[in-house]
Amino acid sequence: MENKISVSLIQEVMEEAYETFKNNNEGANANYIPFLANVPSDLFGIAICLQSGKILKVGDTSFVFGIESVSKVPTAILILKQYGAEKVVQMIGADATGLPFNSIFAILLENDHPSTPLVNAGAIAACSMVLPAGDNKQKWDAITENIEQLCGSAPVLLEELYKSESETNFNNRAISWLLKNYNRIYDDPMSSLDLYTRQCSLGITAEQLAIMSGTIANDGINPVTGKIIFDSAYASKITSMIASVGFYQHTGDWLYESGLPAKTGVGGGVMGVYPGIFGISAFAPPLDSAGNSVKAQLAIKFIMNKLKLNIFNNDRPVITE
Ligand code: GLU
Repeated sequence: MENKISVSLIQEVMEEAYETFKNNNEGANANYIPFLANVPSDLFGIAICLQSGKILKVGDTSFVFGIESVSKVPTAILILKQYGAEKVVQMIGADATGLPFNSIFAILLENDHPSTPLVNAGAIAACSMVLPAGDNKQKWDAITENIEQLCGSAPVLLEELYKSESETNFNNRAISWLLKNYNRIYDDPMSSLDLYTRQCSLGITAEQLAIMSGTIANDGINPVTGKIIFDSAYASKITSMIASVGFYQHTGDWLYESGLPAKTGVGGGVMGVYPGIFGISAFAPPLDSAGNSVKAQLAIKFIMNKLKLNIFNNDRPVITE
């Protein structure tokens, strides 16, 4: 069956989602990173980037917030580009942990097999893999240039967030040394952690995140700039990683309810990839107990369900002007 959806209907449903959930005050800002605790809790925005490059948005879609764990996605793409799909799965893996994002237990359980670049341990390992080895300045440039290409505009470093996170990232320091213990980190542990902390402290808008998701959904071609950012073969690889672990220990529930591979961050951002159709993002700082934005989840699920969209259905939507 063909599900024909007009652009104006998508915009209408986005606005309905916004109105329905804007006054929801469940959840709380991340409090283990002092900077994030102080971001206004009522911010809320939703954006969609269509394959045509058209951007639909509602709410606070130009507010610059901490990208946090959503940054794990572009850096996973960068190492796929630098090493190829086979090496990435050998050196890190593509497995769901079923455990919280910062789990040390997951490393102990899988010490013979690294998990995925989309949880803290694998993301720190991914930063250690970024080329050229041993040169954090050039590695940082590679990370930020890659994000700039995926979004079509540059992210900004939120210096205060970086400072706040660097002063309090004791759990991530333990993860980095444990990776070293298992020979699963491929550059200096503390400089790899510094790169990871810096990438998490990048500021991004919901609109930029929607374009990044749109680029993945569009097989590596940025729908807005028209530039080829990565080989189309990696689009399904990164989307499978997002689908399997994007909501950490709640990923199965999320997929079941939303029908959309998506990745969260404790800054309140969520990016979702609907292959061949669109990229979607939502942003709202208050999080549930697993560290996922309450309103972003509600809004994306509402839009997917209302438009009868689900990547596991066989009726491909056709978006009309
Ligand atoms: N920078 C955060 C951390 O490493 C990111 C966590 C997240 O967004 O899930 O703790």
